[in-house]
Amino acid sequence: LLAGAAQILESENKITLVSVFVCGGQVGLVGKLGEILSVDRFQFVHLDSAATASAKHREAPYAPRIIIVDASSDKQRGLAECIELAGDLYLQDVPVIVMVDEDDFDAVEQALEAGATDFIMKPLSGRGIAQRLEVLVRHTEFRNQLRQTALAATGQAADGLDVLTGLPAAGLFARRAEFGLKKAFLQKRVAALLLVNLDHFRRVKTILGIDASNDILQQTAKTIETAVFEFWDQTSRPFAGRDDIVVGRYGMDEFLVFVPDTGRAQDIDDLATFILARVSKPEDTPGVPSDIKAYLTARISITLAPKDGRDIDVLIRNVESMAHHEDRQGRGSFRFYTKSMKTTAIRRFALEAELSQAMHRGDLKIHYQPEVDIRTGKISGAEALVRWQHPELGLLVPEAFIAVAEDVGLISEIGDWVLQQACLQCAEWHRAGYDFMRVAINISPYQFSRLNMPDLVRRALLDAQLPPQSLILEVTESLVIEDVEKTLTTMLDLKNMGVKLALDDFGTGYSSLSYLHSLSIDYLKIDRAFVKELPFHAGGVAVTEAIIRMAKALGLGITAEGVENQEQLNCLRELGCDYYQGYYFSQPVPASQMATLLHAGGIESRVTGKSLK
Ligand code: C2E
Ligand code: MG
Ligand code: MG
Repeated sequence: LLAGAAQILESENKITLVSVFVCGGQVGLVGKLGEILSVDRFQFVHLDSAATASAKHREAPYAPRIIIVDASSDKQRGLAECIELAGDLYLQDVPVIVMVDEDDFDAVEQALEAGATDFIMKPLSGRGIAQRLEVLVRHTEFRNQLRQTALAATGQAADGLDVLTGLPAAGLFARRAEFGLKKAFLQKRVAALLLVNLDHFRRVKTILGIDASNDILQQTAKTIETAVFEFWDQTSRPFAGRDDIVVGRYGMDEFLVFVPDTGRAQDIDDLATFILARVSKPEDTPGVPSDIKAYLTARISITLAPKDGRDIDVLIRNVESMAHHEDRQGRGSFRFYTKSMKTTAIRRFALEAELSQAMHRGDLKIHYQPEVDIRTGKISGAEALVRWQHPELGLLVPEAFIAVAEDVGLISEIGDWVLQQACLQCAEWHRAGYDFMRVAINISPYQFSRLNMPDLVRRALLDAQLPPQSLILEVTESLVIEDVEKTLTTMLDLKNMGVKLALDDFGTGYSSLSYLHSLSIDYLKIDRAFVKELPFHAGGVAVTEAIIRMAKALGLGITAEGVENQEQLNCLRELGCDYYQGYYFSQPVPASQMATLLHAGGIESRVTGKSLK
């Protein structure tokens, strides 16, 4: 590495001509740039679009060392070009600078998100730009050199292709898929990542030896790649983004497939089945005895974006964790990523059928987790959390079945039931003398989008004789993003009724502060992810403090979720948080235990996680 660095520094001293491509913008821009940059080191070439940059780069006398994209005259187009360039195989190592209008920091943010390396802001200043370009050239050279050295050490070809199969290796795969992912988000498509895992490959390798097993890998690589494109082409529905499909090799006997558009839910199942059928028929692989062929099956793990993750590293980690999960799936099958990974694709079908029965059989239960006033240490309310007492699987937490319920349309029914039960329960607490108690329930976006949502709430309150201010509805940020107009109207209806609203899991979703003040919410619930960092992680403390301060400025009450120890509680108290809930005080408990907690009063009564487990 040091040798590489020395070499770069040495070459820095020689004045080399640097070719800069300028994409989009007015034709006069190149002249203007040349004019204001008094140094002759940079040679500007004007291109009308990013698309030509890739082709041009091979014929240009000097390959571009920097690309400037003008997003000041046409922002959308500029952003699209940044994405295009970031994903271009040949321009992978060329930094992209986006040029934006004065003070257009939004454009800067979007461009960086889209893959730009740096930005320049109008009005153009000669010296500033020259320095910016110079720094970028140096950084890039240095980075490229380091990368070459690192690649050489792992035996990977410098172009990022796997030597055996010719498919992109992990690094290149990730970069290309990331690009496809960005495009998919931009076009609001659901993308998928598949990990194809060969079964028993190690055993086959020991039996057949290196050469024959390498043949199998090569053959499998080809089979998977062909299968994906064939499936794509023969499906009559128009899929978008064929060019963005990426098939790569990942580890010894694993392959990754990035699919930029999953069409309907069923299509991705069909694709997985199609690949599995092909891979499990290695007839064409010469030199493989037929009894061994029977062993050559595969498994597929699937994760969807943006549902399961928004960047490629997260998605790869998802499928990897599935593949190496202790509860291994059967040979020749595929399954989808779920957060708990308890729901395999097969069990899921069973769950669907059972869930609707469970509702009617009374197997659903509600546990309540106390919310505590930080200042007084006394219980101020409780969150209702649904549970499913499954006859064989035991007590299931929502993660295991809420998603299924949403898919099969049972979520509204479950949600209505939770709403009614929780209101009745809270009214009972009031009658028992705890009239300060408030009950919070979680509302799925599906539920919220129904027309008669405010009516259902009114009905539940009336039936239970519960004052509206004792009911808190917890919604998540995703809800707000989906249908702003409708959401705002419903929120306002509820608000007028006197019901309180809380924004759940704050900080984990889109976290755009800009809409917060326009929502009629009363409470913000800081997600457990931030609380976990307290008080030892300086960054975590800073973020939590900022959230609390902002919420205060907007006049919102703040609840911290997932408080597990005294240190976290102290820190939150110092930061001015109002309420907390978490295992430190109590896990979610059945209503009967909740009564005991209420009876005992405050902090002394807390049930620690240990004593309940
Ligand atoms: P949530 O609303 O953020 O609920 C808090 C979750 O954090 C609960 O998980 C709770 O058991 C857990 N928790 C509380 N304190 C601690 C702690 O100190 N440490 C840790 N590690 N975890 C803690 P649970 O009950 O599994 O619920 C998960 C999610 O399921 C809830 O997240 C909520 O979004 C959803 N959910 C629960 N009940 C319903 C429901 O009736 N309807 C709908 N639509 N969603 C529900
Ligand atoms: Mg909640
Ligand atoms: Mg939460």
